[in-house]
Amino acid sequence: MVGQLNVRRTILIVEDEPINRKMLDNIVKDSYDVIYADDGVRTIDTIRENSDIISLVLLDLMMPDMDGYEVLEFMQNDKILRQIPVIVCTSEIDSEVRCFKLGAVDFISKPFSHPMVIRARIDRAIELREGRGLIQSTQNDALTGLLTHDFFMEYSHFRDLHYQNSGMDALIFNVNRFHLINELQGRRAGDDVLIKIADSVKQIAKQKGGIAGRGGADEFLLYIPGGSDYDQMLKDIGEGLEYILNNSRVYLRMGIYRNVNMDIPVEQRFDKARVACNSIRGNYNIQLAFYDEEMHDKEALNERLINDMENGIKDGQFVIFYQPKYSIRGDRDSLYGAEALVRWEHPELGLLRPDKFVPLFEDNGLIHKLDHYVWDEVSKQVGEWMVKYDFKVPVSVNVSRVDIGAPNLEEEIFTTVQNNWISPGMLNLEITESAYTENSDQIIRVVNGLRDRGFAIEMDDFGTGYSSLNMITSLPIDILKLDMQFVKNIHDGNKDMKMVELMIDIARSLKVKVVAEGVETKEQYDLLKNAGCDIIQGFYFSMPCPASEFEKLIEKENEELEAEVNAAIGGIN
Ligand code: C2E
Ligand code: CA
Ligand code: CA
Repeated sequence: MVGQLNVRRTILIVEDEPINRKMLDNIVKDSYDVIYADDGVRTIDTIRENSDIISLVLLDLMMPDMDGYEVLEFMQNDKILRQIPVIVCTSEIDSEVRCFKLGAVDFISKPFSHPMVIRARIDRAIELREGRGLIQSTQNDALTGLLTHDFFMEYSHFRDLHYQNSGMDALIFNVNRFHLINELQGRRAGDDVLIKIADSVKQIAKQKGGIAGRGGADEFLLYIPGGSDYDQMLKDIGEGLEYILNNSRVYLRMGIYRNVNMDIPVEQRFDKARVACNSIRGNYNIQLAFYDEEMHDKEALNERLINDMENGIKDGQFVIFYQPKYSIRGDRDSLYGAEALVRWEHPELGLLRPDKFVPLFEDNGLIHKLDHYVWDEVSKQVGEWMVKYDFKVPVSVNVSRVDIGAPNLEEEIFTTVQNNWISPGMLNLEITESAYTENSDQIIRVVNGLRDRGFAIEMDDFGTGYSSLNMITSLPIDILKLDMQFVKNIHDGNKDMKMVELMIDIARSLKVKVVAEGVETKEQYDLLKNAGCDIIQGFYFSMPCPASEFEKLIEKENEELEAEVNAAIGGIN
């Protein structure tokens, strides 16, 4: 019996003869809910509107305007509707083969006799489609009840086919740093926020005659006819969530691709909405963006860069610049090390700075391949310098937050230095502070593993990642790199200078060295030196430069060292 599942299922009876309809009704009504349609067009509408509740269709073949074959064909061509079993009811025995070919699961001949047999066949057909239970559960997202991503796309496509109205808008919403809600307030609070947003989104879809779905963790999708006031919509969705969203870190973002191009696939329309949405990431003053020409050009450029990357690596188009770090604690400033910064000498686009491609490659995971290449090249270079100059310059490389998720990162970097005959102590690893706040457990595990192998870890961009004092004291790090934003505005006794002094104090209490980045002027240099900063990197000493130029700095350092030694020897003699 179908009654194993404790729900009353719905059967659609498609029949224009009242007497036949009544008979079928009598056969099923004790255990099923029934809805009716009496012509082909209405059938299609009814199926479309109720596809999520209809368990079976009993289909008359002969009907006004559109016959049963057309209905079958229509259902067969739709990924979702195809799942609903159809039993054809007809007096034409010859039509059987054609109907089976069109996806019908069974056949009942008219006039109806043996109601018990008919009932058994209906129950059986539904039972056989028991897998439909699975389909149902993936069609709607368990938490919010919204359509899941794939079904959302399918329904949107479907909507276009049937309404054929242009002027549709594709919208994406997401919550910036949603993970913080889970982390700080618990999963329940996170779920509550998602459910609340989902309810608003559902409501909007209903009002505007559109479709709502859940794209992923904290991403929501809306496909609606154009002409809405989106500022107001954003406010409405955020209503009641002020306690959690009114915050510079956690807020609702919205990307809109207006008046979508009907000639591109639905998914791509939402990709564009996502591009708009991502364009305002990290900018909490703006929470809403429309996809425009400029984004289109940028997207095209990004696509090109993604396509060109692999060959770029093969062809050696990625070159590494070295920016020296000077230790300022001794009597004279001495070369302490360098940071490796990648550049892309693109054959057609010219020299590209990392801000053009690093964030892009982080978004799609390609960065790991590029970083691996950089680590390898730098290790090779460091080894060469050790041999050529008998001088040890530890070089710091950047490790993206994305790299942290790579399986066996410790092993990977360790093997890289080993293959190049240098020790882990010669390759320092810079990891941005915000990576620590985003996924602290994982990063601590990975960083501990790397330190155990002998790598020194530098916390990059310190001061921008919201790590708490409490957190910072328990983090496994060797060097703090003050972010340039702080250095930029320091003057004697001003607020930023006090911040810098505070951060240097923290570093001292943690017994880690401090590097100040972005030091450009003598004033900044003096202030930092007086405040007890250990190492300085910035235009004040040198811009990042090609390896050949950096070698001159090594030579100069060697000469000064030699002079010092000579002076010392001279002093002894
Ligand atoms: P970052 O790690 O914070 O690197 C420091 C950036 O500051 C570099 O920009 C450097 O050229 C610049 N800079 C150095 N001194 C000064 C100064 O005195 N004044 C000013 N205004 N700027 C200075 P660059 O090379 O454009 O790199 C930008 C970012 O790209 C880096 O920020 C880093 O996050 C990323 N990056 C660079 N190379 C790599 C790489 O190989 N892998 C990964 N994953 N990221 C990289
Ligand atoms: Ca860095
Ligand atoms: Ca930095």
